[in-house]
Amino acid sequence: MSEQPAPSDFIRDIIDEDIRTNRFGGRVHTRFPPEPNGYLHIGHAKSICLNFGIAAQYHGLCNLRFDDTNPTKEEQEYVDSILDSVRWLGFDWEDRLYYASDYFEQMHEYAVQLIKAGKAYVDDLSADEIREYRGTLTQPGRESPYRNRSVEENLDLFARMRAGEFEDGSRVLRAKIDMASPNLNMRDPVMYRILHADHHRTGSKWCIYPMYDWAHGIEDSIEGITHSICTLEFEDHRPLYDWFLDQLGIYHPRQIEFARLNLSYTVMSKRKLLQLVEKGYVSGWDDPRMPTIAGLRRRGYTPSSIRDFCDRIGVAKTDSTIDIALLEHCIREDLNRSAPRVMAVLNPLRVIIDNYPEGQTEELDAINNPEDPAAGTRKVPFSRVLYIERDDFREQPPPKFFRLAPGREVRLRYAYLITCIGVKKDEKTGEVVELHCTYDPATRGGDAPDGRKVRGTIHWVSAAHALPAEVRLYDRLFTVENPGDVEGGCESVINPKSLEVLTGYVEPSLAGAASGTSYQFERLGYFCTDLKDSSAQRLVFNRTVPLRDSWAKIEKRL
Ligand code: ATP
Ligand code: MG
Repeated sequence: MSEQPAPSDFIRDIIDEDIRTNRFGGRVHTRFPPEPNGYLHIGHAKSICLNFGIAAQYHGLCNLRFDDTNPTKEEQEYVDSILDSVRWLGFDWEDRLYYASDYFEQMHEYAVQLIKAGKAYVDDLSADEIREYRGTLTQPGRESPYRNRSVEENLDLFARMRAGEFEDGSRVLRAKIDMASPNLNMRDPVMYRILHADHHRTGSKWCIYPMYDWAHGIEDSIEGITHSICTLEFEDHRPLYDWFLDQLGIYHPRQIEFARLNLSYTVMSKRKLLQLVEKGYVSGWDDPRMPTIAGLRRRGYTPSSIRDFCDRIGVAKTDSTIDIALLEHCIREDLNRSAPRVMAVLNPLRVIIDNYPEGQTEELDAINNPEDPAAGTRKVPFSRVLYIERDDFREQPPPKFFRLAPGREVRLRYAYLITCIGVKKDEKTGEVVELHCTYDPATRGGDAPDGRKVRGTIHWVSAAHALPAEVRLYDRLFTVENPGDVEGGCESVINPKSLEVLTGYVEPSLAGAASGTSYQFERLGYFCTDLKDSSAQRLVFNRTVPLRDSWAKIEKRL
């Protein structure tokens, strides 16, 4: 699957060692365990590539498992979008799609087992009291007055919790470990809470729900996961997972923690992304400015560019922030190889070729992709009235401006050399509304037979043939590098210019372009037809990235 040789890193080193020592009988079985409380983002892509990538590399297996233990935040829409994103990224869980909610009965039995062993108790303290009793990093916690209930009383109360006799928040089941442990996670963590809420899969069957820390290790154990790969913040939870599995006497995976992906100019937490959606800063989870897989896809990112990005960033043990320019570099590299070149004018200025016969049209040959000779050529119509980019004309050209200006000659890409001989302006505003030019018929294709030098080459479309198109120019959603750290929240640093919508013209070869197709608009950038809004009747393009590659420059300097 991966285009590059399999990477090596500290996780793979550990797996190599486990294979060498036969720790899991040579098995490698990983999992990707999203909580269906939002769409997947580029950080999840790192975890997906890692888990599925390792399974493929070692001829092992990777499960897709929904960690659906929190009914109030989880929805079927999220489940569907997650399945879609993993598949789109190019990974296959085959018949191994699991749900933590399928293990609720088993988890409940395990909880009863711990109660019977005197290792778990029902606590009547409120959430606030539990927090207060918990102590701090410097102070030990205090034991709950309910901690020493008898096994019989605990079994009875837990059964009644499950039966729905008690109100939300009135009681919890806690593990009986050590209120003085230096690790706060070990201070009698909550295992079950009462929550009279319908679950997207189990409906109203349950009114007690397992806490993540209780559930997660059991899920891995039930599925026979060998290497449970998670992000660094779970390092301190590992002793607790070990404790649970030891007390239950069940199978132990090996947990390995790695640094989560942080990207500059991006927030990655699902909670924050949800805020952006709910408050209408973006059009939805799949808005092309979102770092979600669905958003990147609509923006024009390809699965292989995202996998390539994940390969390049690698995995490490310490947190860092990756420059978003690297992600943009990966999609540029991919599209440079694959995207057909076309001409589009986004800020049109009318040009009339005075000496070109009225009513005449020529078909000129244009190269589809200079990076891919097999892509061939196409015909582009040329006629008397054209559109060029407003920026490609200056009435008073500054030094080093080699494009069109009064009296100047430029090359129209694939067409002719033209010279500007007149400028028509709006009488009231003084704005340039039209240029008059002449063309040199001897320069068809763009070269002058006398070898005279013309430095500027600009793109154009024929006004009578071009198709109108809505073009959405996306920019970074935030104005600062670390929007997640901003006091007052990331909403205060949203880029007001993150979306600019233009009506431009594209060459007629784009008629009926299928949605989700990528192109290079010559000299402008990579664009794709929008997956949702573009149709044969109404072309809508999203700018994926402009052409200029700041990462390539950084790399050259290194
Ligand atoms: P968030 O903090 O963004 O809400 P999460 O960790 O709560 O994410 P989960 O659905 O629990 O989201 O994540 C599923 C898997 O993806 C976990 O194994 C988690 O470690 C991994 N993951 C989540 N965010 C990142 C990230 N930024 N980089 C790498 N892996 C991540
Ligand atoms: Mg989580």
